[in-house]
Amino acid sequence: MIHKTIIEPFKIKSVEPIQMSTEAQREKFLKDAHYNPFLLSSDQVIIDFLTDSGTSAMSANQWAGIMNGDESYAGSSSWKKMENAVQSLTGMEFILPTHQGRAAERIIYSHLGGKGKTFISNTHFDTTRANIEFSGAEAIDLLIPEGKNPAQIYPFKGNMDTGSLVKTIQEKGAKNIGAVILTVTNNSGGGQPVSMENTKEVSRICKENGILFLLDCCRVAENAYFIKIREKGYTDKTAREIAVEMFSLADGAVMSSKKDALVNMGGFLALRDNEIADACKNLLIITEGFTTYGGLSGRDMEALAIGLEEIFDPNYLEYRIKSTTYLGEHLDKAGVPVMVPIGGHAVYIDAKKLYPHIPVHEYPGQALVCELYLKGGIRSVEIGSVMFGKYGEDGKLIPAAMELVRLAIPRRVYTQSHIEYVIETFNEILATAKDVRGYKITREPKFLRHFTSHFEKIS
Ligand SMILES: *Cc1c(COP(=O)(O)O)cnc(C)c1O
Repeated sequence: MIHKTIIEPFKIKSVEPIQMSTEAQREKFLKDAHYNPFLLSSDQVIIDFLTDSGTSAMSANQWAGIMNGDESYAGSSSWKKMENAVQSLTGMEFILPTHQGRAAERIIYSHLGGKGKTFISNTHFDTTRANIEFSGAEAIDLLIPEGKNPAQIYPFKGNMDTGSLVKTIQEKGAKNIGAVILTVTNNSGGGQPVSMENTKEVSRICKENGILFLLDCCRVAENAYFIKIREKGYTDKTAREIAVEMFSLADGAVMSSKKDALVNMGGFLALRDNEIADACKNLLIITEGFTTYGGLSGRDMEALAIGLEEIFDPNYLEYRIKSTTYLGEHLDKAGVPVMVPIGGHAVYIDAKKLYPHIPVHEYPGQALVCELYLKGGIRSVEIGSVMFGKYGEDGKLIPAAMELVRLAIPRRVYTQSHIEYVIETFNEILATAKDVRGYKITREPKFLRHFTSHFEKIS
């Protein structure tokens, strides 16, 4: 018999209690956190969908690896395992371990960046953009138009607009392009996959123009699974084979291993070019650590090497993508405006559509994030004008392209009944949508303001 119910392909050996709370308690918690869920403490949260980053549950095998960690300063055997795992997946020779993705980003983009340089991506993730801009360079997003319309069904909404890519290279001059970066899957744009065809085309354009082509490969396994089920010619390939092919098209890769390597901390930079790798190794040693550990403990590297294998388990990947889709499709059926098709690691909600009465400068996404917390103790993140908004010369807000809220699903952490609870909470969100008000920012830092900004409810 073929079962319809997708069960978690794992059993639970160790549990972590959830602190329950009432709506009245959460009212106070949220006010004390200045209406910014990043400032809540985790025991005030029931279901934490803030991020899928570093929140994975490790396997028994990974925990066993933790005990096997070799903590030698130089030449640790755990480093050898990590280096082998990353080399065999990426096919790249030079592997630099870092404590997380943004450390690898800081190293590569401070080397390639600087004033006058331009970086082009399908969508730069927030830390990627911040690191590029911090170097003095500019970051341009060239997503295909289908990717910008939350309601449009399209199999690869993470694809780069290659026509605009060619035009932008001509305008800026190839020598001024620091790198072209494909983010797979496209996190900020909806957790949407990039096709192999698009990757090949981007790779070809970069080669033709002598431009460095990098993968931001945090979710390369999830992206590979989408290619397997959606792209012609890939049905019979394994997700790992597909990922290997994708890496073969790139000159380098940056990974936050807190995503598809199933660890709580870790990252790397992988490169083919000896000279770039040497320059980056200097920065690595100055700011992260020696080349055989970066910012990582031996045990972290051991767990990372194991996680990078486990992530390509076909049963896991099927469960992962189908369970995210289950949440998204049930919200869709209930009438919640979700971004379709559902992405790999998260469900994105179009807050502008849910709250048409809240103007963008009053942050409809922030309003939904606060409502989800109040009604269900669910923590989510705004991906809209709080995260990506800018101010014009006149001091007015230049809003983001979309006002989304992301429910990011930690890997192997929540079960089906947790998901049913979230769906139930959304029914209440829908019923009370008309009465919800917007927010104003009362305090904000210069970079990555969504992390620490304070808000006030507009009365
Ligand atoms: C998480 C993430 C990063 C940054 O990695 P950290 O480990 O959080 O520093 C970069 N790019 C993408 C696409 C990400 O999802």
